[in-house]
Amino acid sequence: MQKIQEYRAKIKEVGLKATPQRISILKVLTETDCHPSADMLIKMLEKEGHVMSVGTIYNILDTFEEKGLIIKLHDQNEVMRFDAITTFHVHMIDDETNNIQDVHDEKLESLITQRLNEILPEGLTYNHMELILRV
Ligand SMILES: [Zn+2]
Repeated sequence: MQKIQEYRAKIKEVGLKATPQRISILKVLTETDCHPSADMLIKMLEKEGHVMSVGTIYNILDTFEEKGLIIKLHDQNEVMRFDAITTFHVHMIDDETNNIQDVHDEKLESLITQRLNEILPEGLTYNHMELILRV
């Protein structure tokens, strides 16, 4: 578990004001591995005593994504889900339950990243890569 100061620093690092709402959203997202939707996030925040409107949450999530603090992905029902792990990793989505799990494998991640860098046309870099396994 990270300290509040670390979340505050992370938010400030990307040039944003570290408001209590932003800190609590980043904290909840970092501490879970369930890749919540905005609705799930609202409930998780409420459990911790933070009541926020849907609009506020979406605004903060959009800003976080813009600044590279989080990534967005779509689940089986095309619902937006959020992830505080921004480095490349594989996602596994269960078709029945719609659960999203991380598959962390250093060897696979470095193989894909390395090979992509080899085959990409010169001067071209990619901004984002995602690999989703549906099971
Ligand atoms: Zn993930």
